[in-house]
Amino acid sequence: TRVVEDFDKVTDSVCPFCGVGCQTQVYTKDDKIVLVDGKDGPANNNRLCVKGRFGFDYAQSKERLTKPLIRRDDAPKRGDIDMRFMEISDIFREATWEEALERAASGLTKIRDEKGGNALAGFGSAKGSNEEAYLFQKFIRQGFGTNNVDHCTRLCHASSVSALLEGVGSGAVSAPFTDALKADCVIVIGARPTTNHPVAATYFKQATKNGTKLIVMDPRGQDLMRHAYASLRFKPGTDVAMLNAMIHTIIDEELYDVQYIEANASGFEALREKVKDFSPEAMSEVCGIDAETLKDVARTYAKAERSMIFWGMGISQHTHGTDNSRCLIALALITGHVGRAGTGLHPLRGQNNVQGASDAGLIPMFFPDYRSVENSDIRGQMEDFWGRTLDPVKGLTVVEIIDAIHEDKINGMYIMGENPAMSDPDQLHARAALAKLDHLVVQDIFLTETAWHADVVLPASAHAEKLGTYSNTNRQVQIGRPVKPLPGEARLDWEIIVDLANRCGLDWSYDDVPEVYEEMRQVMKSLDYMPWERLEADGSVTYPVSEEGAEGSAVVFTDGFPTEDGRGRIVPADLRAPDEVPDDEFPMVLTTGRVLEHWHTGAMTRRANVLDDLEPEGFAAMNPREIEKQGLAAGDMIEVETRRGTITALLRSDREVADGMVFMPFCFNESPANRLTNPMLDPYGKIPEFKFCAARVGRAKVS
Ligand code: SF4
Repeated sequence: TRVVEDFDKVTDSVCPFCGVGCQTQVYTKDDKIVLVDGKDGPANNNRLCVKGRFGFDYAQSKERLTKPLIRRDDAPKRGDIDMRFMEISDIFREATWEEALERAASGLTKIRDEKGGNALAGFGSAKGSNEEAYLFQKFIRQGFGTNNVDHCTRLCHASSVSALLEGVGSGAVSAPFTDALKADCVIVIGARPTTNHPVAATYFKQATKNGTKLIVMDPRGQDLMRHAYASLRFKPGTDVAMLNAMIHTIIDEELYDVQYIEANASGFEALREKVKDFSPEAMSEVCGIDAETLKDVARTYAKAERSMIFWGMGISQHTHGTDNSRCLIALALITGHVGRAGTGLHPLRGQNNVQGASDAGLIPMFFPDYRSVENSDIRGQMEDFWGRTLDPVKGLTVVEIIDAIHEDKINGMYIMGENPAMSDPDQLHARAALAKLDHLVVQDIFLTETAWHADVVLPASAHAEKLGTYSNTNRQVQIGRPVKPLPGEARLDWEIIVDLANRCGLDWSYDDVPEVYEEMRQVMKSLDYMPWERLEADGSVTYPVSEEGAEGSAVVFTDGFPTEDGRGRIVPADLRAPDEVPDDEFPMVLTTGRVLEHWHTGAMTRRANVLDDLEPEGFAAMNPREIEKQGLAAGDMIEVETRRGTITALLRSDREVADGMVFMPFCFNESPANRLTNPMLDPYGKIPEFKFCAARVGRAKVS
């Protein structure tokens, strides 16, 4: 614990960045944050990573939006501008809240009234609180009569969630990551926890010191491999081959749990049939891992008394992302490694509240608590509760909404706290869609790349300025508290949503955030026995809670699954190639991801001085062997090109990147990796294939 002497106040809160959900103590002086320290929360036990500890000053940035903005009539055409090289006043003029809200609402209601609610869409945010997510989706559904509402879960774990809902009846984790300390074997696949979930990674390392066998599977090398019993750097895109080979071994050597399968799972015989063709010997060439290693990790996982699987975007961001997750679920179900402490399935959730935002209904196919919008009984209940007729058809997802704008089916959007101009695949296509909208309202704390395209910009609240609940990857609901005042005329997000809803014809009245939370609890069984007062008193409550006063259930599926027949469903997966494989024209594989110091599209962390000093510019990383083979040198400016575009970036040498591969982080707007990525979707989760597309590189032309 660090010591700071010059402060006025210390406030307990939670970190605004990743899904680990570290609890913090925020020290302020003269209404400014001066230090953030770790608190003894259940997910962090006083620990913080570099983002949580040093990334706080973005909230105090001079670039914060402090007044509403309206697009000038003489502003350059949308889509033709790069605000980095322009003055804000060339594009926008300042406005009063009255004028801005009126302009925002009238533009949206005009489209709704003339073209119908389905001509509108909304992107909410996984960075906002549960209450903001709930109000946002309620506004889109109740106020516009459409289910076209989504958020960045569609870009991260949507395929994992679709496989989990199908297989085990719940999209949330079955056990917390801290249970790694109770496991005998831990598999981490397609995830880089030391970069993206750094505090969770400390528990994995700690577990290995206690004797846990850690198996890390990733085409790229990573720090965690230094602590691993086995490291499998398989060929990118061959997850199903490798995992089916493990399942083949477990079945072939009769290492599966017959009693568990008989009591709890269906589909085993179909799986047995499917994996007959996936022997480790046959799959070794496909995935690049020798057969004996495949057998050894299969035996290690299956024979352990308690095994857990953790996964990330390397599994989910593929056109076969749902199939990848189906294999992981099958592994757990045939070995009985689920439903007990130290066992389970854990997709490491990305943003601080992506779990909660999805739970709260910020997705196009479900009302809060994953209740289908297409089920007439459920819809009837929600219509009674909200007092409006609701759209009976599920809405469009993030990338589908972008395509629908190009097809002239969607003409207006309300975007709160998301940055699709940076985060969506095939970025020029996404930005052209934003530019094509008849009316775009953006609510944010900075003039993001998405806000450049807006007609109306509403200055909103940073995490450090608001009260709200956040649900982390462990299903722990925790309270974030305000530690500093709002800058200028910026307002609280929930109040802006309410004002806009009322100007769009609704009649909402909420006094405060706890009132919104209590309304959520009326339609979310998952929050039973978790009143606001209990969150305040306990500091963190894990859902579900089975009865009044009981502890939350850290481990679920202890007695079957929340499916129709109470059994887990094994769904065999076939090997499918990525959508775009390398060829003579584009011989390399481009993969994208994050870096330790920056968070997603960089809107916050690139304005955090310490973090941006540590990692100040975009880059493309390649293996030194590949760099030499291509006649390049580290430090060169190179062009990375795919079928969707070309960008220039600094070449960095990195032994962790495989031969034939180039890695780019997607947070740098000066070398925006998503200009290159493939928008092709997984058919179930509707997630784009960020982790794999064909590319070529060459020295940048000097003009
Ligand atoms: Fe914040 Fe995640 Fe780092 Fe914890 S691990 S301090 S939640 S960014």
